Amino acid sequence: MPNITLLDQNTINKIAAGEVIERPASVVKELLENAIDARATAVTVEIKEGGTTFIRVTDNGCGIPREEVPLAFLRHSTSKIKSVEDLFTISSLGFRGEALASIASVCQVELITKTSEALTGSRYSIEGGMERPLEEIGAPEGTTFIARNLFFNTPARKKFLKTPMTEGSHVAELVEKIALSHPEISIRFIQNNQNKLHTSGNHNLKDIVYTVFGREIAANLLAVEAKKQDIAISGFIGKPVIARGNRNYENYFINGRYIRSSIISKAIEEAYKPFMMQHKYPFTMLHFTIEPELLDVNVHPTKMELRFRDGEMVYRMVYDAVSGALAHKELIPEVELNK
Ligand code: ADP
Ligand code: MG
Repeated sequence: MPNITLLDQNTINKIAAGEVIERPASVVKELLENAIDARATAVTVEIKEGGTTFIRVTDNGCGIPREEVPLAFLRHSTSKIKSVEDLFTISSLGFRGEALASIASVCQVELITKTSEALTGSRYSIEGGMERPLEEIGAPEGTTFIARNLFFNTPARKKFLKTPMTEGSHVAELVEKIALSHPEISIRFIQNNQNKLHTSGNHNLKDIVYTVFGREIAANLLAVEAKKQDIAISGFIGKPVIARGNRNYENYFINGRYIRSSIISKAIEEAYKPFMMQHKYPFTMLHFTIEPELLDVNVHPTKMELRFRDGEMVYRMVYDAVSGALAHKELIPEVELNK
């Protein structure tokens, strides 16, 4: 005989957390995206022991009004959409209202936040879904979010974490991607009290490419600019001479979101084909600005994939933009040298 029961909220949150919170880097991703959605211009990420015991993200964004703080930690609570129609015009990185509930179900969380209107800040803590009452506290405008001891209450998941060094390098890579996707935001990354990255927020993508990837790549870039109807592409692609052995250097961002897309990768690789040896992949750093109505971002909980309304047109445009940038006379001798 079946014995069907409805799971309690805490259990539901823990199960849902499995979809989005896999490791410290996933926590950092959600917190950084929230800071960006809060229109922060400066964000600091600090981690210790690879983020397994300590993650702190501090932003100077809009803050959360005191009476709404506990709400933010409920599942499906969001300030970013009101109805399903809004999904088709969405411009924020978040919209599912799941991250804070998920993080709070598997970490010890502390939040300090202040809006511009509030005279004082609020402090709130929640551990494995159990909250403590809000306190009033002096705080600058913005939000500081601390997540301690990831998976402290789910030992089975904790076992899947790798060493602090490996987890830390996943966090570092994620922070770099976010810095590259938002050159207008100053991003600082501190690992075990050491400064690892600091971008200026001066909009200069090339500066960040230099900081993250070094001189060889920064010195071998071609600019890409294209615009057609509701799609704009801008950024850089690498000359074939800096091709790499894997796809990790194919970066592209849609409306400030780092994503993977087989359509875009295929278009890029086809355009490079005449210049590239087999099993080599290009370096690209392309920012797409696309009208939200032409996208469906609600395909996967991590939002790493999305659907284009007109994939064919995106393919054409990317192919033309990349081939256009590559059709540069000075490239040919380098390709020959490369052979
Ligand atoms: P989502 O980002 O999908 O809306 P979250 O669970 O990540 O869901 O966050 C819930 C809500 O908490 C957000 O919609 C937002 O209103 C608020 N919030 C979270 N982080 C911040 C922040 N750093 N600054 C301001 N508001 C925030
Ligand atoms: Mg969010």
